[in-house]
Amino acid sequence: GYRSRAAYKLKQLDELENVISGGDTVVDLGAAPGGWLQVAAEKVGPQGSVIGVDLQRIKDLDGTENERVETIRGDMTEERTRERVIDAAGGGVDGAATAASPERASGPVDAVVSDMAPNMSGEYSLDQARSLHLARQAFETALELLDTGGNFVVKVFQGPDVDDLRADIGDEFQYVRATAPKATRNESSEIYLIGKGRLTAPIRAGD
Ligand code: SAM
Repeated sequence: GYRSRAAYKLKQLDELENVISGGDTVVDLGAAPGGWLQVAAEKVGPQGSVIGVDLQRIKDLDGTENERVETIRGDMTEERTRERVIDAAGGGVDGAATAASPERASGPVDAVVSDMAPNMSGEYSLDQARSLHLARQAFETALELLDTGGNFVVKVFQGPDVDDLRADIGDEFQYVRATAPKATRNESSEIYLIGKGRLTAPIRAGD
C-alpha cells in the first residue's frame, strides 16, 4: 500500500497530464512520508530515477523501488539544499557537460513535482503566504533543473498572487493548468499548478 493518501493525488495529476514517463529522472520536493515517491518510482520504472527531498527523514522504500530512489534531508528554502539536489541530479540543465556522474547516472531532470506545505498556524493568510513562498522556491528549482520538454507540478493554497505564479509558470512552459484533484476536494483550498513542456532550457551563464 501507499504511505499517504497524497499518493492518489499524484496518480490523478499524472492521469490528467502525463507528468511522469518510464525512464524519467524525477525530483520530488516535500516528499515525506513518501507516497508520491512510491508512485513516481512505479512510473519511472527500472530505467528511471527519483530524488526526494524533505525537512523530515524519509524511510527507505521497499525492495527494487528503493534502488531508483535517493533521498535528501534538507530545507528547500536554503540555497545549500538546492545545491545538493542539483548535484544529485547530475548538475541540472547543463549537467550532461559537467556531471562527474557518481554512482547514479541521472541525466537532465524530466519532472519536478512539489507537494510542499507549511506547518499550519491556523491563520489562513499566513499559511497561504508560506505556501506561496514554498511554491516559488519549487518553481525556481524547476527552472534550474528541468530539461526542455520537462514537466512541473506544484501545490499551492488558493489566494492572492496565485494568478501571478500561474502566469509566470505559463511563460516558461507550453501551457499551464490549475486543478484540484478529487482526492483533495474536501480539504478545500489547495490546488495544483501543472506546467507542461518546458520551453527551451537556457544554458546557465558562467558554466
Ligand atoms: N507528497 C508527500 C507524500 O505523498 O507522502 C506528502 C507531502 S506533505 C503534504 C508536505 C511536506 O512538505 C512535509 O513532509 C513537509 O516536511 C515538507 N516541507 C515543508 N516545507 C519544506 C521545506 N522548506 N523544505 C523541504 N520540505 C518541506
